[in-house]
Amino acid sequence: MQRERSKQLYEEAVQFFPGGVNSPVRAFRSVGGTPLFIKKGKGAKIWDADGNEFIDYCASWGPLILGHANEKVLNSVQATMQNGTSFGAPTELENELARLIISNNPYIQKIRFVSSGTEAVMSAIRLARGYTGKTKILKFEGCYHGHSDALLVKAGSGLVTFGNSSSAGVPESVVSDTIVVSLHNKEAVQKAFEQFGKEIACVIIEPVPANNGLLLQDKEYLQFLRDITKQHNSVLIFDEVISGFRLGFTGAAGHYGIAPDIITYGKIIGGGFPVGAYGASKEIMACISPDGAVYQAGTLSGNPVAMAAGIAQLSECLKPGFYEQLETKTKKLVSGIEKAFKHPSIPFKIFSIGSIFWIAFSSDEKIQSAEAIDADSMKYFRQLHATLLEQGVYLGPSGYEVGFMGEAHTDADIEATIAAFAKAFEQLN
Ligand SMILES: *Cc1c(COP(=O)(O)O)cnc(C)c1O
Repeated sequence: MQRERSKQLYEEAVQFFPGGVNSPVRAFRSVGGTPLFIKKGKGAKIWDADGNEFIDYCASWGPLILGHANEKVLNSVQATMQNGTSFGAPTELENELARLIISNNPYIQKIRFVSSGTEAVMSAIRLARGYTGKTKILKFEGCYHGHSDALLVKAGSGLVTFGNSSSAGVPESVVSDTIVVSLHNKEAVQKAFEQFGKEIACVIIEPVPANNGLLLQDKEYLQFLRDITKQHNSVLIFDEVISGFRLGFTGAAGHYGIAPDIITYGKIIGGGFPVGAYGASKEIMACISPDGAVYQAGTLSGNPVAMAAGIAQLSECLKPGFYEQLETKTKKLVSGIEKAFKHPSIPFKIFSIGSIFWIAFSSDEKIQSAEAIDADSMKYFRQLHATLLEQGVYLGPSGYEVGFMGEAHTDADIEATIAAFAKAFEQLN
């Protein structure tokens, strides 16, 4: 496979951007080599700058649940654009997307659109603090909530620790109110509430943690978080930037039947455009300006072109059987890959939920916390990733990232993917 053009473009990009990219994981640092520059996408396929074709399971990191260049999304975007692209004044399209979401989702009564998942989470934290009048926040090691300062933290050594900032440029004073504990650990959360109960404004979790492997939590654990936050008048935030509209239209809240206080959305909600959102009950949302005292604003918030894309995409998601067929295809892919793995000495597991899957070179039956991932096993993912590219299958370039099945993947794509995995597995060593 020739990748000359991508290499040239990358060398050029390095002159312009730190690491040659505008978001770090794109740089291929954890799999080695240089990134593919993508020229075009259609349905489940993407083509790089050298004209190589790939079956894509990255889906722009999740948003493209209908696949690339979906006709309905494109038509709607093109029609909307003809009338202008931004007004900084309300449009009917915002109402339409909000109605579509709220009337099909019992977990939120009001919503605010923003322009990214990061912004949604940052605003949700501010809302939780404004609503409760408390300051501390509790997050879990292994959950990603975007790159806002207070959430760029890693756990220290201990059951309950205040965050150590995980990025230069984030002062300790900014993360000193962020408590970090392990996922799937009740005792740590109980301890944190014993010590700081009165001060904890919110607990934030990805109910389906999918940014550091796929660390599926038990329903009972999420219910425990619901109960303990309620007892302490603390807010429970589900960060559903990945799981929202992915695990069914009502996301993880609907999947588990657990009602958080605030939900954040992103990715799928914008149909491939930059949209995020946060939603809650009328009572909680009344704290947001201009109704309430929690300030939050955005020049391009509720952008009409992005709203049109979101409406087109979410309307498809609402069609009967949409999520069932995604799950059926995912199961087919997962079981095919499992059957294709025959290596005598390398451990292998593939975890999945709905249309999300994650490959782990591990012999553990369950992996439910960040600490349970074996960093050394990533050497196998690096080999797998490289061989799959040669075979025309594109996965996100890190073994900590999940894959996404979309509406556009056909049975033939799935069979070709399984065959590519079988070949790639033979070359593992
Ligand atoms: C992607 C993601 C974010 C950040 O969203 P951006 O649009 O990249 O800012 C936040 N939380 C979760 C769970 C995510 O998956």
